[in-house]
Amino acid sequence: MWQAEVRVDLDAIRDNVALLRAGTSAEVMAVVKADAYGHGMLPAARAALESGASWLGVCTLDEALTLRRAGITAPVLAWLLAPGLPLHEGVAAGVDLGVGSLPQLGEMIEAARVAQRPTRVHLKIDTGLARGGATPADWPALVEAAAKAEADGLVEVIGVWSHFVYADAPGHETIERQLDVFRAGVATAARLGVSPPYKHIANSAATLTRPDAHFDLVRPGIAIYGLSPVAGERFGLRPAMTARARVVLTKRVPAGQGVSYGHTYHTERETTLAVVPLGYADGVPRHASSSGPIELGGKVRRIAGRVCMDQVVLDCGDDPVSAGDVATLFGPGEHGEPTADDWAEAVGTINYEIVTRFGGVRVPRVYD
Ligand code: PLP
Repeated sequence: MWQAEVRVDLDAIRDNVALLRAGTSAEVMAVVKADAYGHGMLPAARAALESGASWLGVCTLDEALTLRRAGITAPVLAWLLAPGLPLHEGVAAGVDLGVGSLPQLGEMIEAARVAQRPTRVHLKIDTGLARGGATPADWPALVEAAAKAEADGLVEVIGVWSHFVYADAPGHETIERQLDVFRAGVATAARLGVSPPYKHIANSAATLTRPDAHFDLVRPGIAIYGLSPVAGERFGLRPAMTARARVVLTKRVPAGQGVSYGHTYHTERETTLAVVPLGYADGVPRHASSSGPIELGGKVRRIAGRVCMDQVVLDCGDDPVSAGDVATLFGPGEHGEPTADDWAEAVGTINYEIVTRFGGVRVPRVYD
């Protein structure tokens, strides 16, 4: 018998990848960083590959090596690499590396020497996000250095890529501007002798709304997990994650009873309280105190008072709830339960953060 669980519907992930595939002639890189946004990196990666994704995208070298150690042979791109990492291990494992500066490229060249094979690199141009990547001013120098290293047999340039600022706001002026900078960066690279097979810039939002930004490869993350990157749009995606727990106990308390730490909530009348065993250690944001929606006994209720480390309390009035009943924090929303979007709205964040938080160690993940 289970106490709390995160269910992940791998068929939903397969369906979402198939839907994205159907909407593009580009290849699909399934972004499975951060333990697949809390869904479990290896099962999610396998499901995505089964359904037609041909690449995997991760943040760290460790994530990429974990995929390789699990026997996954599909191309993998890792893109957030601090100095001093054992990049040669990535090179030896056939991991592609994102590079956005000359010092990074230097480390990748060194890694190629150690691994005795060329490092597969994707040159990143910063088209406006001002995060990773070379600025347009620094871009020609990065491309020239990469072209020289390629001629020396030390790198193989597989891609030129970038990332959007505001693709989740279709029509936002930055999208056009970034695409212009990206196309100019691709043209500059070609002029300098670098014309890699993959140009890529589209995250989920651009994959779903901007076919002109697909180029050779799209990099959806959140959409694979069935959540929409664009407020108010579903795109036919199926949310894959459900978080739920079984009520530990119920009790009758009088009117005016303070509930949970700090007594920030008081019962209005005699009522039944239900204790649900999921707390901030499990991913429930503490900001959800007095606001997080939970379905129990066919009704959506708000958490009564503070979220604790391991549990929350619901005020159920005179409803017939009992120990052992299932309380659903969020799911696809098909049975009246809240969704990750409802949680995001309740706590002032984005659906990405809600599901990623539930990738913790204590609550078992169960795959359907
Ligand atoms: N590409 C890069 C570089 C990213 O960092 C991410 C995630 O943040 C993605 C693609 C996928 O983005 P999304 O989950 O919005 O599709």
